[in-house]
Amino acid sequence: MYDVETIRKDFPILSREVNGAPLVYFDNGASAQKPHAVINAVTQAYSMEYANVHRGLHFLSNLATEKYEAVRGTIARFLNAASEDEIVMNTGTTEGINMVSYGWAAPRMQAGDEIVLSVMEHHANIVPWHFLRERQGVVLKWVDTDATGWLDPQKVIDAIGPKTKLVAVTHLSNVLGTVVDVKTIVEAAHEKGVPVLVDGSQAAVHMPLDMQDLGADFYTITGHKLYGPSGSGAIYVKKERLAEMRPFMGGGDMIREVSKDAVSWADPPMKFEAGTPGIVSMIGLGVALDYMMALGMENIAAHEAALRDYAVVKLAGLNWLNLQGTAPDKAAIFSFTLEGAAHAHDISTVLDKKGVAVRAGHHCAGPLMDHLGLTATCRASLGLYNTTQEIDVLVDALELCHELFA
Ligand code: PLP
Repeated sequence: MYDVETIRKDFPILSREVNGAPLVYFDNGASAQKPHAVINAVTQAYSMEYANVHRGLHFLSNLATEKYEAVRGTIARFLNAASEDEIVMNTGTTEGINMVSYGWAAPRMQAGDEIVLSVMEHHANIVPWHFLRERQGVVLKWVDTDATGWLDPQKVIDAIGPKTKLVAVTHLSNVLGTVVDVKTIVEAAHEKGVPVLVDGSQAAVHMPLDMQDLGADFYTITGHKLYGPSGSGAIYVKKERLAEMRPFMGGGDMIREVSKDAVSWADPPMKFEAGTPGIVSMIGLGVALDYMMALGMENIAAHEAALRDYAVVKLAGLNWLNLQGTAPDKAAIFSFTLEGAAHAHDISTVLDKKGVAVRAGHHCAGPLMDHLGLTATCRASLGLYNTTQEIDVLVDALELCHELFA
């Protein structure tokens, strides 16, 4: 049984106060808190098991290598990838998408070639493509959401033309919480011979994933949102795409041989992992993923769906609150503005005084903000340890905001 009160005890920070009030941590969309298991694993790795990985011939290097490399298998299980060789370990989604942009897309795209994007992408899934637009004349084709924040997969499919070389879409909007039907997009794009990159930075936190079923060519995850350490992450790359991709960064670990005149590469995925990796962060990520899998991704999703339904009803009762993103298939992520002049930053400051941590701003989603006609929203993003009582605290604090700013 999913016992949220027991789970909360696994996260030491949740017992602290902020500004004299119990912490209500609703900024999980930006980064999630860490359970004891992860904190202990990081401490253990640094205190008793630390050395650089690969090529070492001594005990500690072999131990660290074993622990670090085991994480590749854990990530493959978490994503249900066909092989752990399809997992490139990195610092997160931003690095993963840049790797694809530099290593896969740049060498095969020419002026006039197109990349199809949705309007609700995070800057991590926009800026690397703008590089290609600026440097190589690649055209970015944008697909809008409807008024509820829903992305019609057919509109994405219709945007794929003879010059489209890639579709790059989020699986779950970090601003609106909208879940995108990426499987339908992948199937149709593949029929037209176009690979698909999915930004799974948010989705991986909230739903079970199956790379073999989804069929995406590239799928990124973010360790620090998955209750793991910052500076950890990975990208799933389908075998065929791995074979096509050039290394993005050069250095130690990713080579087979280097001489004055020539260089040859290690086999994938090592070919794409240059330099000393985030050894301990990745070990912590492995523990975080094991923690989530032990809770059960279906159970986490069910718990968060109940929180979402509760919050939707509560927030709908505040008729001066404008909720952005009301599509039916949505995670427990709520972006809102208040009627009147209050800026999102002012609202978040008042909420903070009540111990409620939310994020305010454009959420690294400039095109979406333009589409919504807003400059900023407040965002409450919930995670596996949040409760309905905490939603009540948020609602009370919002009522206070309304009184102060109305
Ligand atoms: N994509 C989405 C949808 C995000 O929400 C974020 C983080 O906020 C990112 C990408 C960036 O991820 P990372 O921190 O792993 O670079």
